[in-house]
Amino acid sequence: MNTIKIQKMDITQADTDCIVNAANKSLLGGGGVDGAIHRAAGPELLAECRTLHGCETGQAKITKGYNLKAKYVIHTVGPIYSGREDDPMLLRDCYINSLNLAKANGLHSIAFPAISTGVYGYPVKEAAEVSYKAVTDWLTENADYGMDVLLACFNDKTVEAYRSISE
Ligand code: ADP
Repeated sequence: MNTIKIQKMDITQADTDCIVNAANKSLLGGGGVDGAIHRAAGPELLAECRTLHGCETGQAKITKGYNLKAKYVIHTVGPIYSGREDDPMLLRDCYINSLNLAKANGLHSIAFPAISTGVYGYPVKEAAEVSYKAVTDWLTENADYGMDVLLACFNDKTVEAYRSISE
């Protein structure tokens, strides 16, 4: 059975099979959730990321989780919010491609941060709508797989945005 949970938490503490990193195209670390994940995973994560040669917006790449509780990190690059019509498409791609990559690696639980809603400036409510729909669409399409999705919200605003959609 597939599940979705919305929780206020620090994603580096998630004990899911994998956690998703809202990275930048270089995959060489940054601020926000990216910095927190690299700090918690340790320097070996950056060493493996260097071998990946970056990632395009909307795409996803996987590494090991090193010192994290999660065995793997899926690095995806959200769109920098522009107000143009491809923002929601690219944000949706991040969630769909991350879930596909988790499934391709035989993983059955995944935690997501609210991709693009920090430095990349995506309005939280709009991002939550796109993200929640992407996740529920994927879970419907993969109903027989068994994936537990944790939406790891760093603040109350994000929790409330997801809760108002899911209720
Ligand atoms: P982006 O560049 O994709 O906007 P940010 O890291 O700036 O990425 O922010 C993405 C989201 O991650 C924001 O909602 C931010 O509050 C949240 N965030 C920051 N640190 C953490 C953390 N340790 N756990 C979960 N979410 C976090």
